[in-house]
Amino acid sequence: MVWLNRYFIRHLYWPLMERYKGNRIRAYLKELQHCQKLSPEMLRAYQEQKLRALLTHAVEQVPAYQPYRELVQAGSGSVFELLAQLPPLTKEHFNSHRDTYLSRDAHPERLISNRTGGSTGEPTLFYLDRPTVEHYEAARWLGLSWHGIGIGDPSVMIWGSPIELNQLQSKRYLFKERWLKNRLMIPAYRLQEPKLDTYLQQIRRHRPAYLYGYASALALLAELMLRNDRKLGFTLKAVVSTAETLTPKQRDLIEKAFATTVVNEYGARDGGILSYQCQAGQMHVCSPNCYLEVVDLATGRAVEPGQRGALLVTDLNNRVMPRLRYQLGDVVAFADSGSGSGTVSASSTCPCGNPFPVLTHIDGRIDDTFVSQSGDYVHGHFFNHIARNLDGIRAFQITQHSPDHLTLKLVTNEDYTPEMEAAFVHEIHQVLGESVLLRVKHVDQIAPSASGKIRYAIREFPLPGPASSTGESPSIPTTLPEELFPVAENKPMELA
Ligand SMILES: [Zn+2]
Repeated sequence: MVWLNRYFIRHLYWPLMERYKGNRIRAYLKELQHCQKLSPEMLRAYQEQKLRALLTHAVEQVPAYQPYRELVQAGSGSVFELLAQLPPLTKEHFNSHRDTYLSRDAHPERLISNRTGGSTGEPTLFYLDRPTVEHYEAARWLGLSWHGIGIGDPSVMIWGSPIELNQLQSKRYLFKERWLKNRLMIPAYRLQEPKLDTYLQQIRRHRPAYLYGYASALALLAELMLRNDRKLGFTLKAVVSTAETLTPKQRDLIEKAFATTVVNEYGARDGGILSYQCQAGQMHVCSPNCYLEVVDLATGRAVEPGQRGALLVTDLNNRVMPRLRYQLGDVVAFADSGSGSGTVSASSTCPCGNPFPVLTHIDGRIDDTFVSQSGDYVHGHFFNHIARNLDGIRAFQITQHSPDHLTLKLVTNEDYTPEMEAAFVHEIHQVLGESVLLRVKHVDQIAPSASGKIRYAIREFPLPGPASSTGESPSIPTTLPEELFPVAENKPMELA
């Protein structure tokens, strides 16, 4: 049935969307497929052309970039050097000057608003348009195509957030997921061991080509399968991990439980699909869509390939609200190719033959998983999704000291109301247990951790399970390992 549905999606639904809704995902995907056959030099020229057009547009139409008009118009050198003369854009600066980043020629009715949660300390609201999101989706399909996965292939999404759960209640949403995306959703933000066989039964019935989900949710499912000696019973093309740091330990668990390749997707809600793992295991940057720079945190200057630094993202397709050199909040490093400036000129020497540059380190944030009084695992993203919809809460941090004892720190703004706080607290009690002791503290700011990152969910005790006797949580490390291929806070958005 799901394979018949794939035929329907590929040969009827998508062509109809293209004809009547102007959907251009397949056209953008073709463009990306063309780009991945280019030489590194030609790829750089392609990127240069797109960047120059974006810069010219920004200084002419976007108030925040007007002061750089003369600089850009007089600029005779490389457009990459020109861009490097603009200051990096921090989330803080962007949030307090957001309206000045909106392009004057943007049609209000075509704007799509989007926001990130507060896991980086600052929730961010911004705008994009349909073509920008379609470029993100094309990048995802390109990455999936490297693993033999095509449009319409059945998938199971191991997902979990209150937003999606609310949507799950809507029949229209379910219909769309099941029949127009060929996707089955398994709400995993409260994974329960007794429900393991039900989940596996659902997956077997749908018979997906691949699983897709949060690294920690996939790892938890894998762990439950291994602990209970359960197998899927058929071969997946891949398990695709996204939205957070995929640690080597999680990768091992998932690989062991599903006996297939684990593919890492690196993206962010406010950055799009930035990088995808190829068959040779390298993280290739989708450089036709985004121009990435890695700079020293202190000096703001580009670091050498191979060295870690702050990631700056310039989305080459978002013209309605251009953010040039946007500091995403992740620390990354480009592969050391022995030449170039850590950008696309650092050509890939990957055995897969793809010319897109390679990231060797992506030190994202690690989400913590909490434990409820009834023993359910509650994903740290849960709190982030609640806070995202409470405008008066600027930042938060929740710490679980023990299964029964928590502290919630709140940084509020002028939109704050006690009702918002009560709603937040109510949701926490709903998932963690009515009788947990929750202390709320209002603070001026959330202090960053030793790594310099602000963590929004901290569990101070090991997860229960067979590995707990070692005093270590079984799958989620509390410190960042040296080598990992992780991800930013949220999954990149996709069209509803
Ligand atoms: Zn490769």
